Amino acid sequence: MRTAIVYSPGMQEYDLGHVLTGERYESFMALFREKAADRPEFEVIEPGYATEADLKLVHTDEYIRRVERCESRDPHDTPLSPGVVRAARLLAGAGKLAGELVQSGAFGTAVVIGGGVQHAGRSYEKGFGIFSDVGICAENLLQNHGLQRILILDTDAHAGDGIYGIFARDPRVLFISIHQDPGTLYPGPGYGNPMGEGEGLGYSVNIPLLPGTGDLAYQYVLDNVFTPLAEDFEPQTIIMVDGSDPHFMDQITRMGLTLRGIHMIAARVRVTADKVCGGRVVAFAGSGYDPAGALFPRGWLASICGLTGIEPDLTEPYPLPAGHTRDYAASETRQIVQAVRSAFAPYWKCFASS
Ligand SMILES: [Zn+2]
Repeated sequence: MRTAIVYSPGMQEYDLGHVLTGERYESFMALFREKAADRPEFEVIEPGYATEADLKLVHTDEYIRRVERCESRDPHDTPLSPGVVRAARLLAGAGKLAGELVQSGAFGTAVVIGGGVQHAGRSYEKGFGIFSDVGICAENLLQNHGLQRILILDTDAHAGDGIYGIFARDPRVLFISIHQDPGTLYPGPGYGNPMGEGEGLGYSVNIPLLPGTGDLAYQYVLDNVFTPLAEDFEPQTIIMVDGSDPHFMDQITRMGLTLRGIHMIAARVRVTADKVCGGRVVAFAGSGYDPAGALFPRGWLASICGLTGIEPDLTEPYPLPAGHTRDYAASETRQIVQAVRSAFAPYWKCFASS
């Protein structure tokens, strides 16, 4: 199955003037061209801008108007300018297109480069995100393509509070978020571990991990929460939100994944998708912050190669920190997983005996 790399040079206008720079896009594409672009598995597809109707799949009319007027409610965090708003529309269009490329069968996997808005909600921008590319991708598949079950796996180091809010009441979307405990990282302890609301109760699964959690502990979470839930839920497509920020060298977060660990997560998603949904995966690779820009392009590529079944060169750009082990926090992670399985046992037969 082939992989679409959904990218447009216009995305470089998504430059917020802080850690989220427009240069990130070309940094990744330069590495991709060097290492992978000539492989037959890949094709670069250029998206168009989201239309008004696309944005309204998720966002309120009032919010879309406010964004168009560039009136940010938090200009330090998520500043709005005509260029940034154009780029946000482009990312939203990319999310919609990526879902359709996979749904049509043209590609097994489609990856939105620099996408994966996690914190923005239906009526607000937040945490560097403006229009929910993930939400628009999923709502378009539900509303316009007849899908009834979508699994969103979010392995970004930050809890996806915006995605949670968009789908909290919708049992057609199973949201699984594996992240650094929000007691120690944005969006903060107020997020808690919500389980969904109303008809969506039981369809939001949050797994808060300790800072430093390593590759083998993540693997344990996937094997004991993600895979059984995917087999139980039988999604028609898996949407994956990832990136490089759970890597041990990320400058904003404190998780402990290596590049090999990022590749492992994507490879496990691939195996599960092949089993439960005909291999259909839509991925968003956008996070990762290091001043030299050496880390995140490699992390995005590691993930894309894992999804595509390719073994890339995974040389770490930085040495492993002293004391780092691949199974760091393994015993604590087993306890966290046990607590999650017990809490969700009333909702899922795969956890019934937990
Ligand atoms: Zn993040």
